[in-house]
Amino acid sequence: MARIVQKYGGTSVGDVERIRKVAERIKAIRDEGNELVIVVSACAGVTNELIARAKAVCANPSEREMDQLLAIGEQETIALTAMALHGVGVDAISYTGAQAGIFTDKVHTKAKIKTINAKPIEKDLVAGKVVIVAGFQGINEEGQITTLGRGGSDLTAIALAAAVKADKCEIYTDVDGVYTADPRVVKDARKLQEISYDEMLELASSGSKVMQSRSVEFAAKYDVIFEVRSSFNYNPGTIVKKEIAYMEKVVVRGVAVDKDQAKVIISNIPDKPGSAAKVFRALADASIIVDMIVQNMGRGGIANLTFTVPLTDAAKVQRTLLPVLEGLGGGEVAIHENIAKLSVVGVGMKTHSGVAATLFQALADASINIELISTSEIKISVVIDKAKSDEAARVAHAAFELEKL
Ligand code: ASP
Ligand code: MG
Repeated sequence: MARIVQKYGGTSVGDVERIRKVAERIKAIRDEGNELVIVVSACAGVTNELIARAKAVCANPSEREMDQLLAIGEQETIALTAMALHGVGVDAISYTGAQAGIFTDKVHTKAKIKTINAKPIEKDLVAGKVVIVAGFQGINEEGQITTLGRGGSDLTAIALAAAVKADKCEIYTDVDGVYTADPRVVKDARKLQEISYDEMLELASSGSKVMQSRSVEFAAKYDVIFEVRSSFNYNPGTIVKKEIAYMEKVVVRGVAVDKDQAKVIISNIPDKPGSAAKVFRALADASIIVDMIVQNMGRGGIANLTFTVPLTDAAKVQRTLLPVLEGLGGGEVAIHENIAKLSVVGVGMKTHSGVAATLFQALADASINIELISTSEIKISVVIDKAKSDEAARVAHAAFELEKL
């Protein structure tokens, strides 16, 4: 007998037919005597549709009301999943995030989990019930419904796996696992058997849409080993865990492209102590996540700052920075939305040289211009023209011979 947390994403529970299929899968595992906590997302498309409706009634909906609205999506699927289980004779109970004891901070639409009171769930498990929990949502100390950011059901699953000390955590999606690149773009991309948290994290935060990056961060912190696999077949997926020695032989393990980024250029700001601090403080206070910061050498008392932000925050960046620049006594903001960020990732980079040279040469050979570069210990990212990003993924994948992994 094992205690298993399974998460089914939006396409896995995309309609009533899919929910029945998932219920059968759950029943089979339950019949083997396992304890099960099931986390579900909203049906595919529902969250987006709710967002569209919100925008149709108000140009700039309040974040609190947004959470009230978006929590509905998952509340539908938990109830339907529990009913489908009842339909096949499985004892099951559904819980919203609040009912499941998932307490978060106060940041609406991007809340962080603070604690989980898992006692009631554990009681149900011991009583033989399958527990179905709404992903993506929680409750803050003021009793307000919060959501955990897009894709947040992954985080719910990983956090619950840690809280109930699960033996196994499985993230079911519509792809077979983690690939060396997006197989729809790079035809000879390979499924990885294993990947380290660090690599997965860099891939997830670099635009590989398999999982929400915060959930991988959480898994690494609490050492929750999990498997990413498909609910549409029984193929083994990709195991994500702490890095293991042989992984270092592979220099690059994946190429990711993020098309949902915008490049922000602030030009002509006063080159004095505190300018950058004020700019980034304001962005941080607006909960905007900034990446790839580059400051050019100041000349004649003025400096230029360039960085990337999520595309969805581009308008907010404008609104946030205008008063700050006024306060600093100068500077203009320009936002470029037709960019993409391409990243190559691998823990082996720590001990190998020439990765940057190989990537830049491959892009040069394909006449793809590099606008920004940033590196971490295990990742090199470049900002390029969005229109060329698919081609860039293919040439990078070929340059590192990832089809041979
Ligand atoms: N339904 C939410 C979303 O679409 C959460 C999730 O699917 O994980 O972002
Ligand atoms: Mg999802």
